[in-house]
Amino acid sequence: MREDKAVDEMDPNGWPGQALMLDANAAAGILYDVFSAEMTASPTECAHCGREGEVGTLLAFMQGPGIILRCPACENVVLRVVRTPGAIFLDARGAAYLCLRRG
Ligand SMILES: [Zn+2]
Repeated sequence: MREDKAVDEMDPNGWPGQALMLDANAAAGILYDVFSAEMTASPTECAHCGREGEVGTLLAFMQGPGIILRCPACENVVLRVVRTPGAIFLDARGAAYLCLRRG
């Protein structure tokens, strides 16, 4: 866990995983496939630290065949999505909730 600086003050060039890190909007296409909705503005809460924010504010990482969205406050995994040719796997254990607005 990183407690030395607030995420907003972090130098993006100093982030050790930056080569793997994407703008969360890059994950928007995969999330659209899963939820059939635009998800980046959807509120969610980190199950680990309780941080609330929009899905688009999570840190997105490409790992193997899927994406991992991490909490920018505590860096724990909030959502994992893996696409295979026959299915989409969603692991949302790290989210206390994910709000899909209707209409
Ligand atoms: Zn968190």
